[in-house]
Amino acid sequence: MSEQNKARHAEIAGAGIGGLTAAIALAQRGWSVTVHERAPNLRTFGAGIYIWSNGLRVLKALGAYDQATVGAHIGPQFHTRDHNDTTMEEIPINGPGDARLITILRETLINTLVDVARKNNVEIRTSSAAIGATPEGELLLADGSARKADLVVGADGINSNVRDSLDLMLYRKHLGYGAIRMLIPRAEGDVPPEDENRYIEYFTGTRRILYTPASERDLYVALCCAADDAEALKVPADRDLWTQSFPHLAHLVARFGDAGRWDAFEVVKLKRWGKGRVAILGDAAHAMPPYLGQGGGCALMNGLALADAVGAADDIPQALERWEERERPLTEHTQDTAERLGDMNFWPDDIRSQVLKITGQSPEIGAIRMRTARHVPTAADFDV
Ligand SMILES: Cc1cc2nc3c(=O)[nH]c(=O)nc-3n(C[C@H](O)[C@H](O)[C@H](O)COP(=O)(O)OP(=O)(O)OC[C@H]3O[C@@H](n4cnc5c(N)ncnc54)[C@H](O)[C@@H]3O)c2cc1C
Repeated sequence: MSEQNKARHAEIAGAGIGGLTAAIALAQRGWSVTVHERAPNLRTFGAGIYIWSNGLRVLKALGAYDQATVGAHIGPQFHTRDHNDTTMEEIPINGPGDARLITILRETLINTLVDVARKNNVEIRTSSAAIGATPEGELLLADGSARKADLVVGADGINSNVRDSLDLMLYRKHLGYGAIRMLIPRAEGDVPPEDENRYIEYFTGTRRILYTPASERDLYVALCCAADDAEALKVPADRDLWTQSFPHLAHLVARFGDAGRWDAFEVVKLKRWGKGRVAILGDAAHAMPPYLGQGGGCALMNGLALADAVGAADDIPQALERWEERERPLTEHTQDTAERLGDMNFWPDDIRSQVLKITGQSPEIGAIRMRTARHVPTAADFDV
């Protein structure tokens, strides 16, 4: 009997964006799926998240779009501002012919994916940690058991045990930069009224503040700094220090909460995205810095594409090779572009201002930046 005619089973490590996407898409193709999440609950850290057209399309394909976008913020532009609060670049979004972009709470995205997964009969086991996998299709768990499957997915994040058990790492690079993320209530006076609904990235020296409305009530703030900027990466954030760097944002800085977490930006590249019956997905396979807001977007795309590739395939290892061949070039283009954009953090203020003013005033360059880097088609098919 061909594999196509048997009920097939997938074991997935990690209930993050990548693991849940693959789980839903496989279940929708008739597979039985179990997801193992190391944490005791399905909560996520990370405040808010940007989702561009490519990710929104995947949410639509999964049947998760309507729930995920309830209460989402839909900004009119993305601004990049210099140390004098002068706009260096304005990217229009969400208008006719523009790229689509929404921001939501991470919790909303994960809760939605969990709900849709359960509706599709995906079994999700919490407090169940993976320690490795075998190319023959076994997921090895910390409790000593081995779970046999037609397909094993390592979507267990940047420190993936599944990946490392198969010796797949090509390199892992620390980029010397990172961010503290926090969620605070939105309030009048943080920014001028005309800026309230915009997404704004403010630069001063090597520090950046990313201002992101993430719902009607929630503001997602990311404080970004170099990994050796010991004072700036402290949590709770040092309000005096951030006010000195961003005096025009004093009102906002004064309202910073004490919570938050500093995460380093890293790049992960693998020799192969899998071995035998095991696929590595999401940050485990291709972590990237968040300058394009596409790490999650790529996990969504590649999770759906993975299910599509193996869905009705006779030969799973061969289908995984084809999946990697198809998806890897675009993912690595995105990774490489994001990495290059990070160089700007270390430029002197004046040079950064001049360069961004030139690129920001050119509609052609703007369009290229948007379409290639964020692989965003003009998305007239979204009513967000
Ligand atoms: C500051 C910052 C901002 C970002 N902003 C954006 C953005 O705006 N838009 C965007 O698209 N992307 C963004 N990203 C990237 C995005 O967060 C990641 O690419 C995305 O979360 C990757 O999803 P994942 O499922 O691969 O991994 P993860 O989200 O890391 O999920 C992995 C899951 O596996 C679990 N796990 C770990 N180890 C094990 C184990 N051994 N066994 C079982 N389970 C395990 C973890 O608990 C977790 O639930 C940002 C990243 C950072 C750092």
